[in-house]
Amino acid sequence: MLLGLLLLCSSLPARSDRPQVAPERLIEEVRAFYGTLPPDVGFEAPSEAVITALRKVPRPLFVPESQRDKAWENRPLPIGHGQTISQPNVVALMTDLLQIEPGDRVLEVGTGSGYQAAILAEVGAEVYSIEIVEELARSARERLRELGYGKVHLRTGDGYHGWPEAAPFDGIIVTAAASHVPPPLVRQLKPGGRMVIPVGGRFTLQYLMLVEKDAQGTVSTRQLLPVIFVPLTGSH
Ligand code: SAM
Repeated sequence: MLLGLLLLCSSLPARSDRPQVAPERLIEEVRAFYGTLPPDVGFEAPSEAVITALRKVPRPLFVPESQRDKAWENRPLPIGHGQTISQPNVVALMTDLLQIEPGDRVLEVGTGSGYQAAILAEVGAEVYSIEIVEELARSARERLRELGYGKVHLRTGDGYHGWPEAAPFDGIIVTAAASHVPPPLVRQLKPGGRMVIPVGGRFTLQYLMLVEKDAQGTVSTRQLLPVIFVPLTGSH
């Protein structure tokens, strides 16, 4: 089984030839994680759109070859440059928290491997994603194109400043921990939009925050869960 997975994943196949290894155990673990969430998070179960996306996006192809045998496990994995691909249960929850409707414009800060961007694209978002490490941005671009996610817009740079030319966004997802909610990102959120962002110290206690801007432009922030993310870097 393991050998089969490794062989199937040894190159980047065309979209129709993707390995169809069903990550059912992973899906079960994601469902179990939602069952542990406090009621105020607002989800008792993952949405069907997110489950479908988790099944469809081939996570083994987003990690280095040395990590592929672990890629259907519910854990973060190293992707080089001291960075990680996030844990699937957190990818699922952050995606659900954005309440994406097909065609919504979503900004991601921290492209990393491109996995979260592919999940967002699968649930119907028009994705804009920014990565600060040039080499990660280059390989994510290539990977997303080869896997059929060529419509994801990618940019190299400091995502703290957002993507003003593409704003406003229906949703913003930040996949590295910031010391505070970046004001430029709040400005680039549409009225009615939502942002999910881990906020806290470098490798110390961080909380996943939900930032909502109502139709009148009033911003409210809720602390949802303790999390651990790599830090948001850059000279902002
Ligand atoms: N979403 C990614 C994925 O699906 O693989 C995982 C993201 S990883 C946990 C965090 C990423 O944020 C890293 O790739 C890191 O280089 C990037 N990053 C850190 N600070 C950043 C910044 N200021 N602007 C853009 N990207 C940043």
